[in-house]
Amino acid sequence: MKPIYFDNNATTKVDPEVFEEMTPYFVELYGNPSSMHSFGGQVAEKIKEARKRIADLINATPEEIIITSCGSESDNTAIYSALKSHPDKKHIVTSMVEHPAIKNLFQHLEKDGYTTTFVPVDNKGRLNMDVFYDSLSDNTAIVSLMWANNETGTMFPIDEIGAELKKRGITFHTDAVQALGKIDIDVTKTNIDMMSFSGHKIHAPKGVGGLYVRKGTKFSPFLIGGHQEGGKRAGTENLASIIGLGKACEIAKGHLDDGYHKLRSLRDRLENALVEKIPNSFVNGDLENRLPNTASISFEYIEGESILLMLNEYGICASSGSACTSGSLEPSHVLRAMGIPFTAAHGTIRFSLSVFSTDEEVDLVIEKMPEIIQRLRDMSPFWQEAINEGKVTV
Ligand code: PLP
Repeated sequence: MKPIYFDNNATTKVDPEVFEEMTPYFVELYGNPSSMHSFGGQVAEKIKEARKRIADLINATPEEIIITSCGSESDNTAIYSALKSHPDKKHIVTSMVEHPAIKNLFQHLEKDGYTTTFVPVDNKGRLNMDVFYDSLSDNTAIVSLMWANNETGTMFPIDEIGAELKKRGITFHTDAVQALGKIDIDVTKTNIDMMSFSGHKIHAPKGVGGLYVRKGTKFSPFLIGGHQEGGKRAGTENLASIIGLGKACEIAKGHLDDGYHKLRSLRDRLENALVEKIPNSFVNGDLENRLPNTASISFEYIEGESILLMLNEYGICASSGSACTSGSLEPSHVLRAMGIPFTAAHGTIRFSLSVFSTDEEVDLVIEKMPEIIQRLRDMSPFWQEAINEGKVTV
């Protein structure tokens, strides 16, 4: 059975065009770009081209791109760099809905003596701007706020935040792992000092990512060793993957206009049909300001894991709003921060589409979901209780 892969915020398939571009660089052109011989030199040229393609997607210069191993490494690099560059400042600011790559790093830094602010969000996942601005002080070393949320797709007002932080002279990092390639990003129009991204979210392979560092931003390397990445990140280049990331960025740039309009209407069709056909269901996030590919839908009084298992029987891949990776069935910290009631957070499913998603796939999910939800509700004591208490009508 060919999977219906609606879990693209977790990872994406490598675009066949990307794969094709990468393949010569394993067995034939495997030189080390730092070598003096021309066999290595020719791959150095190809890395240069890839860096240019990455930079072009966000209107940066190639010198402002540091290639890393993943989004998590980029996040860690940015935060540690800011702390090293401002040794006198001991306060760091982020939000309550960040990916663990930032959330857990900030909690770790608390143990090292840093004071943290986790800015709350409202029930649509929008940042509480008053709390945010009030938290800032001369002691703030860095603000790190994600561009788009991986669970709901909700986007923070990065332009506004950047402008304010520039006025106050505070370093601004954004985790754009989910945003890159899905929305138009122009770093010359926003005051971002550093921005993380990751290859495997945009149809490049896993194991490659990047960090944009605006020219003039104080920078301190995370990985120390060789002179690669202009001395900003040591380690022999992950040649084929870097070339793949470059190609994926070039393709993503081509999709920014029409590809994502198509994707948005596909996502909207899925979302509207499910909410219309299934009682006691609703969409999470800021409907006016979110990624075009992400649908986070709560189905009340059942468990997301059971929905996923049933979807799996039809080859449909999605993910739930529980923090399964932590081994608990606690609803995700994102949904909890948004104040989504327990009975709904538990039954939350994230469908995340890609430019490879089709109308037929959406049709099948629309067909199967109502019967899956009904079967599970028929077995759910919480659903029965809700009927008895008059909370739902059947
Ligand atoms: N930041 C966000 C918003 C993400 O969604 C992810 C991955 O899901 C990461 C960071 C981590 O990226 P990577 O898997 O490349 O380390």
